Amino acid sequence: QPALDVAAVRQDFPILSRQVHGKPLVYLDNAATSQTPRQVIDAFDDYYSRYNANIHRGLHTLSDEATAAFEGTRETVRAFLGAADARQIIFTRGTTEAINLVANSWGRANLKAGDEVLISMLEHHSNIVPWQLLAAEIGFTLKVIPVDERGALDQQAYRALLSERTRLVAVNHVSNALGTVNPVAEMARLAHEQGALILVDGAQATPHQRVNVDAIDADFYAFSGHKIYGPTGVGVLYGRRELLEAMPPWQGGGEMIKTVSFDSPTTFAAIPHKFEAGTPAIAEVIALGKAIEWIEGVGIEKIGAWEGELLAHATQEVQAIDGLRILGTSPEKAAVLSFVVDGAHSQDIGLLIDQLGVAIRTGHHCAQPLLAQFGVDATCRASFAAYNTLEEVETFVAALQRVITMLR
Ligand code: PMP
Repeated sequence: QPALDVAAVRQDFPILSRQVHGKPLVYLDNAATSQTPRQVIDAFDDYYSRYNANIHRGLHTLSDEATAAFEGTRETVRAFLGAADARQIIFTRGTTEAINLVANSWGRANLKAGDEVLISMLEHHSNIVPWQLLAAEIGFTLKVIPVDERGALDQQAYRALLSERTRLVAVNHVSNALGTVNPVAEMARLAHEQGALILVDGAQATPHQRVNVDAIDADFYAFSGHKIYGPTGVGVLYGRRELLEAMPPWQGGGEMIKTVSFDSPTTFAAIPHKFEAGTPAIAEVIALGKAIEWIEGVGIEKIGAWEGELLAHATQEVQAIDGLRILGTSPEKAAVLSFVVDGAHSQDIGLLIDQLGVAIRTGHHCAQPLLAQFGVDATCRASFAAYNTLEEVETFVAALQRVITMLR
């Protein structure tokens, strides 16, 4: 397959031509939020200029058009995830809300004291804290799959932790802090053997690789729009149909009901609307559809292959820096490069390198338990997207070297 045409890709992103502190922007904080192509930005203008209206209430043209575009995105997401049925796609505010939905709906209905939920040492706080909150209320036990020194999940320990008490395994597909790609299909198979369900946090996988929820055999799969070139404020929960149909509503309000009465029990809409109370982020959902169309137009496989080249080049270059340690050395890695440097605080590196126009992330990456295990409380993280170039990698490495020299 022909390689990604990076120059053409860059043309779609107006922000890439801006300067920061008088230097051309080198944006390497894509794991936090990716930049937004013109096609996605235009979707907002188009919606608010032409057909802004509340959806599913019909009977006028604008509402019909908005509803069609909104529901059209559900179909776009269905195809993006390889799901069988668009009713399995629920729009949320993001990955965080998707996980909280599962915890509060499925979790409250199905978990009891004595049960076990397995998460992993690699989790983002959004796949830790909802389970901690619920465990404190219900009294089930939260167990943690350990990581090895490369930052890969210890699969032997995982097998040992699984038992007939395990009701749910909740793990990320790709770690935001280290970039580790987890073998979620195999983990799903093992979970199912024990009669447990699996929830996969796909926030960091969907930007980089083809995801197929059926091939993984995921019971739940979550991702965020703003990490796949879409807007903030929108994300997706995929769920297996029988599960979603059996789950009680989480939030109540308009859109999610069939009938409301004071004399007989309120009845609820069918999925997916049962889980979409209130007016959703209509423009954001429609723009998410445009982001997915943009990705499919470029080719997610091409994007992943190109990011792999960027990661390999960056890894090789930074390894030459004296006293620099890369965290996350699993061979299965997505476009994330996390590192610490002897004699230079991550925060200082982040602040100074910004002065040179380079945006990286510093801090705990919402994965404090993981970093604690590596004996650090912060790392520097460079993360790549389709529009990054080898020249930008060179600029980043040169800037990093300069900053380290200053700090030492
Ligand atoms: N999980 C992972 C692996 C993430 O990287 C993130 C975002 N950093 C989240 C969950 C939370 O996503 P959001 O903030 O968009 O809800």
